[in-house]
Amino acid sequence: MSRVLTEHSIDHIVLERGEVANSWRRERWDSLRLLTPNWLSRLPGHAYQGSDPDGYMAVPDIVSFIAGFAAATSAPVRAHTTVTAVRSLDDGYRVDTDHGEIRCRSLVLASGACNRARVPELQQAVPPAVQCLTTFSYRNPDQLSPGGVLIVGASATGVQLADEIHRSGRPVTLCVGEHVRLPRSYRGRDVLWWMEHSGVWNQRYDQIEDLERARRLPSPQLIGSPAHGTLDLNTLSLAGVELVGKLAAIRDGRALFSGGLANQFALADLKMERLLDTFDAWARDSGVDSDVGPLERFEPTRAPSPARLSLDLNDGAIRSIVWATGYRPDYHWLNIPVVTSKGELRHDGGVVSEAPGVYALGLPVLRRRKSTFIHGAEADARDLVQHLLGYLAGRGGGQLAEAARGARTHGVQD
Ligand SMILES: Cc1cc2nc3c(=O)[nH]c(=O)nc-3n(C[C@H](O)[C@H](O)[C@H](O)COP(=O)(O)OP(=O)(O)OC[C@H]3O[C@@H](n4cnc5c(N)ncnc54)[C@H](O)[C@@H]3O)c2cc1C
Repeated sequence: MSRVLTEHSIDHIVLERGEVANSWRRERWDSLRLLTPNWLSRLPGHAYQGSDPDGYMAVPDIVSFIAGFAAATSAPVRAHTTVTAVRSLDDGYRVDTDHGEIRCRSLVLASGACNRARVPELQQAVPPAVQCLTTFSYRNPDQLSPGGVLIVGASATGVQLADEIHRSGRPVTLCVGEHVRLPRSYRGRDVLWWMEHSGVWNQRYDQIEDLERARRLPSPQLIGSPAHGTLDLNTLSLAGVELVGKLAAIRDGRALFSGGLANQFALADLKMERLLDTFDAWARDSGVDSDVGPLERFEPTRAPSPARLSLDLNDGAIRSIVWATGYRPDYHWLNIPVVTSKGELRHDGGVVSEAPGVYALGLPVLRRRKSTFIHGAEADARDLVQHLLGYLAGRGGGQLAEAARGARTHGVQD
């Protein structure tokens, strides 16, 4: 956003409570790599220049990439400045920080979609002897007591941690709820090559039938590893990870799991097949069929038979629980009434209509399916700056880029 504002000579500052790329420096586990390939790591005018475009950046590389971008664009960042309150004034907003007060006409909330771990209430019923970690406190398996580990949640984070913790020699049980299955590569290309080139990722928020649902979709089961391998539930169960249903309750120290695992798996398999069909149709229609490999279909996810329905958390077999149950934003510092009772920002494609001049970036499916990915920020920022220019010119908000409205749609089913 800062780079696009600079292109339009709009005076601005960027407030950051830590350092540039703070979430990558402070809030990720040690072994994390991006699940997006290097060639997709793009910010406005700044792309990956290394020798491994198909590889996946480790955390130090991501930090250098983002910090390098901030330096190259001379972004006016005020680091170590925490926003503690935002209030509306007659002619704009007052932003309180731990280094004083700032007044501005317009405000962009780019504080992230993943500030806190989303942990279900039932965590309170976990017996005290069982160590609990979230994806914010987990760094590596050495933190865990020896013994069994229950991982709750099987999206990108959950499957990656299940794999790592299982490899550390600990027995792992993985609770699987609704999930999005994807192969790492399809017809000889990275699956995210297909997402990008087929236009699926570009699908706009106002062309999605059930937007609320699309915004709640879990992240895909993917890992970015040097081996470029698929990390789906079949891979994990073959390696020895025990799959159980969604954690439904903890009663008297017993974890109770939902039944119907086979149905859950069948649904995720079906959705994956529909997506692959979409890719195939695009390849056929756009004449790239001969540039990619032959059609592929994947083995259905194997359900354990019978799946375990409960587990005693008091008998010492499970020593730790890792809550990989998702993330949520944190707007406790926002004193304007634009946040729902569930803590979510009310906005229309990043325009916070109830607070003129306030915008948001980096939230799930903000303006496109790719909005929460690093390479998704640019197009959204360009659209929002068009609106912001109109607002600053006193027109109450400009037209959102018409060109973007013409973006191609595909019949993707969530
Ligand atoms: C585990 C995980 C893996 C991911 N993997 C990928 C991937 O493989 N590829 C990809 O493209 N994307 C990935 N993402 C998404 C990626 O994090 C986002 O695309 C990107 O970080 C969004 O950037 P952002 O600047 O919007 O938010 P953030 O990176 O969260 O940055 C928000 C910034 O705001 C600061 N801030 C928050 N509140 C305040 C305040 N009150 N005052 C001052 N500063 C504040 C924070 O310190 C932070 O630096 C992943 C996300 C997670 C959580």
